[in-house]
Amino acid sequence: MSYHVVATNVELWVIDGRITFTPHDHTDPLFGGFATAGLVDAHAHTTFDLSDRDLTPGADETVSENVLDYLGAGVTYLRDTGGISMAAVAQQGPRLAAAGRFLAPPGRYIPDWILPTEPSDLAAAATKQVAAGSWWVKIVCDWFSPETGKVESHYDRDVVASAVDAAHAAGARVALHCIDEQSVDIALATGVDSIEHACNATKSQVELMAERGTAWCPTITAVRGFTSHPLSDPEYQSRVRSFYAETLYELLPLASTLGVTILAGSDTVPPAEFWREVVALHEYGLSPEGALAAATTEARGYFGVPDLEEGAPADLVLYDGDPRVDPAALASPALVMIGGRILSRRR
Ligand SMILES: [Zn+2]
Repeated sequence: MSYHVVATNVELWVIDGRITFTPHDHTDPLFGGFATAGLVDAHAHTTFDLSDRDLTPGADETVSENVLDYLGAGVTYLRDTGGISMAAVAQQGPRLAAAGRFLAPPGRYIPDWILPTEPSDLAAAATKQVAAGSWWVKIVCDWFSPETGKVESHYDRDVVASAVDAAHAAGARVALHCIDEQSVDIALATGVDSIEHACNATKSQVELMAERGTAWCPTITAVRGFTSHPLSDPEYQSRVRSFYAETLYELLPLASTLGVTILAGSDTVPPAEFWREVVALHEYGLSPEGALAAATTEARGYFGVPDLEEGAPADLVLYDGDPRVDPAALASPALVMIGGRILSRRR
């Protein structure tokens, strides 16, 4: 099928599964609404049963079903930031890049999820993840200690630096899980590509993100929810509370002004709720256009995947409302097209 798409923000044609801006005849019209190439979830975990559908964690089918859920929700590109198996890595392609296993020391983070990795083995583990096909490496730099309950760093700066160098040398990028300030310092000192969460970042750290070109994926929807439950580190909890009550309202607009790449990431929030992260980015002070860009154009540029551009595979998501006015318009796509084929439509 060939289509002529006239949206409020763009006019294009879909011919042989690809986008073109050259007018064609004999096409089916798709009129109205706002068009994107689909949303980008920069922090997903597709090996989990994200929507409580009794899927087996880590199974190939679980990844495929989650990807379908994402597509239905208008999310056409995913970065999987760590799995409990290599199933997401095996399904990488034009719409999915994956980080393989969560790397954390034995008994740390969520012990059932991780590939247990002593500090002395971190660089070798990163190399192995990439050799096994991972396009990204995910390092869990801190979490609550099983002994003291306090948030502690798992790896020091030199250890992370050698793992980052190893991953880069093998052609992959690194995402560092940082729920506390000292891990963000480690990320900034070692050249990791993206900082995940950073729910305690400071103004000077945001300035350094801008200076060093480090992306920030704040995963607000997921982390804000998790910190509303009592945590084993009350001092940490009070700092995170004030971060969401005050600090982030300043830091997010600052990051945007300074040109930090901000990425929208849902973490373990179900695929159908990904849009809430875009709303949260707006709530914390990004303009609606800025929040939308974190899940569309800016993210696509960062991941090096095509947008609505000449010759690109025709991934196209139409919305009745205009997300530049209200990001909540992203909640229910009117039409989802993948590679020129309509996957779902409401009108
Ligand atoms: Zn995560």
